[in-house]
Amino acid sequence: MVSSERQAACVCSACSLRTSAFSAAHLEPSPRAIVVVAPHPDDETLGAGGLIAGAVAAGAAVAVVLGTDGNRRGLGRVRAREYAAALDCLGVPEAGRIRLNYADGSLARQPPGCVDLHLAETLSALRPDHVVLPAPWDCHPDHAVLGHAAAHWVQQTGVPCSAYPIHASGFPRPRGFRPSEPLLPPSALLPCGWKWTSLPLSPTALRCKLDALRCHRTQLWTPTLRGLLLSLVRQNELFAVRSEGINGGSP
Ligand SMILES: [Zn+2]
Repeated sequence: MVSSERQAACVCSACSLRTSAFSAAHLEPSPRAIVVVAPHPDDETLGAGGLIAGAVAAGAAVAVVLGTDGNRRGLGRVRAREYAAALDCLGVPEAGRIRLNYADGSLARQPPGCVDLHLAETLSALRPDHVVLPAPWDCHPDHAVLGHAAAHWVQQTGVPCSAYPIHASGFPRPRGFRPSEPLLPPSALLPCGWKWTSLPLSPTALRCKLDALRCHRTQLWTPTLRGLLLSLVRQNELFAVRSEGINGGSP
């Protein structure tokens, strides 16, 4: 189970970078119905904006499931508008914008199983053939809770998945807006059963991602947060996938 994966780490991200495992092979064959799970407005862009833009351009149906309202500083309504503008940039249609509507920062305080059931019902209704989820081992509680819920659903259903990191110690390095440089994996070891892969972004997908990120204006106000967000606009996007195969399995 996913929760036990925290206990053992056996995949060295540095070693993965030196091998052919660091590739975009997990997206072959190209999925036709992709669901991106985002804890907060902006995570869809930060973690998978380039993937979304590229998939939409290739004709895939892309939906984004937003976990929380992003209302931590009373900016919920503003962030909702920013989020809508960002999804316009990425090409996500209105019908593909689903909200779970939990309060920002509240996912770890929900009754046991509540988020899991809510997300499972949502994903089952959408019937994706690929799920992009926040890394279950992310340092932010909202990311971890939603990531665990999504990882549980894909493990139960066998749907392929890709997990994106946002909050991790020393990630990304170096900080700053360096769109011509690669995004490298966090230094921390991955949980057993996962490996890093990289999705190269086309110039068009990278531009769409940057345009979408600029829509999240309130998140670019403070220098610290701005530095983190812009550091995730690089030549590639980074995902962890099941190392046992595309359908995963119990590690
Ligand atoms: Zn977030």
